[in-house]
Amino acid sequence: MSREIASVTLPAAAPAPVNLLGLDRTGMVALFAGIGEPRYRAEQVMKWIYHRHETDFSAMTDLGKALRAKLEAACVVAPPKVQFEKPSADGTHKWLLGMDGGNAIETVFIPDKGRGTLCVSSQVGCALACTFCSTGAEGFNRNLSVAEIVGQVWVAAKHLGNVPHRQRKLTNVVMMGMGEPLHNFDNVVPAMSVMRDDLGFGLANKRVTLSTSGLVPWIDRLGVESDVSLAVSLHAPDDELRSQLMPINRKYPIAELLAACLRYAQRKPRTSITFEYTLMQGVNDSPAQARALARLMRGFNAKLQRDNAAKVNLIPFNPFPGTGYVRPSDDAVRDFQTVLMHADVLTMVRRTRGDDIDAACGQLKGRVLDRTRRQERLRRAGEAATPTPPEGDVDAAA
Ligand code: SAH
Ligand code: SF4
Repeated sequence: MSREIASVTLPAAAPAPVNLLGLDRTGMVALFAGIGEPRYRAEQVMKWIYHRHETDFSAMTDLGKALRAKLEAACVVAPPKVQFEKPSADGTHKWLLGMDGGNAIETVFIPDKGRGTLCVSSQVGCALACTFCSTGAEGFNRNLSVAEIVGQVWVAAKHLGNVPHRQRKLTNVVMMGMGEPLHNFDNVVPAMSVMRDDLGFGLANKRVTLSTSGLVPWIDRLGVESDVSLAVSLHAPDDELRSQLMPINRKYPIAELLAACLRYAQRKPRTSITFEYTLMQGVNDSPAQARALARLMRGFNAKLQRDNAAKVNLIPFNPFPGTGYVRPSDDAVRDFQTVLMHADVLTMVRRTRGDDIDAACGQLKGRVLDRTRRQERLRRAGEAATPTPPEGDVDAAA
């Protein structure tokens, strides 16, 4: 018996609502123009979101009913979900934030003498596989969206009751969490713009710092398109060692990297560049290596004709399970710093904070559903102690 089947036309799927955390001021104004609303309405909504931490349009009482209804129909303010949070004895606070697709990333707040720094992630994992970094060992899943990057700051600012220009516990952001921020340039740049916007988190330009493993072409682009402080992960004074520690050095060796840093500093005459140097016992912490680093830094300052154009930030290695590297003694760290200071190179040692909750640099892990199968390859190769990744990985996320 045959049955006639009436054809049914399914309604076109409703478009996904726009997450307003994913738009900087230009994007907000454009969206509001698209729904026939003037610029000042977009600005009003930004203040609700970033200064009053409001996510519910119906609570934005000065907007008028018609606009609230339009926003409710087409938009959301959706910060990432806090899956877990952990305060540390020293005031450090770590959040595990759930991301689409079963991944999770970590964000850490570090208070210190009148300032509060939030360490923000830019990717789920990292494709660059530096041998001393637990994020690198976890492999890579994907870039974070603008909303997911801004959302990390939003979660922390709300938790801290942060209000720009008044009660400011959160004063600095460093893009030093999970991931290589310049591999996610198009999302990181607008996210940093929300961080520095008065209608956003209102941070000063120089208080937002992007840390990179040294992707030369993107350092140049950053110099043109943004105005933030730059930190560059150096970790070795010569190419042979740097390539062993950071495979990306094979593509962008030290001389090219320093030349890009020079161009960046020339564009921004008042800013200095911070060179990060993670100290690992018996690997890169000898007096000869300190002298070689001092020579590089002095050469950099001389080319710019500015004494403190290059600052060195020494980070004693933070251990994580499975690593073969060891943190040098405090004396060895001090000796290394002394060599640099005697050569007139401004050098700070980063105090390790939050290590009781695995929240220090290089200890952030999150939950990475690895698409590069790095863990599996490392296990198979039996080289979990000091893994050297295969060449092909170097630019996998570019
Ligand atoms: N991908 C970027 C930013 C994230 S890493 C970069 O590499 O710069 C932030 C900083 O932590 C970098 O300087 C990195 O080299 C350092 N780091 C990574 N693993 C570390 C570890 N186990 N101990 C100390 N510092 C580490
Ligand atoms: Fe990636 Fe930075 Fe870790 Fe290297 S140090 S693997 S670039 S997050």
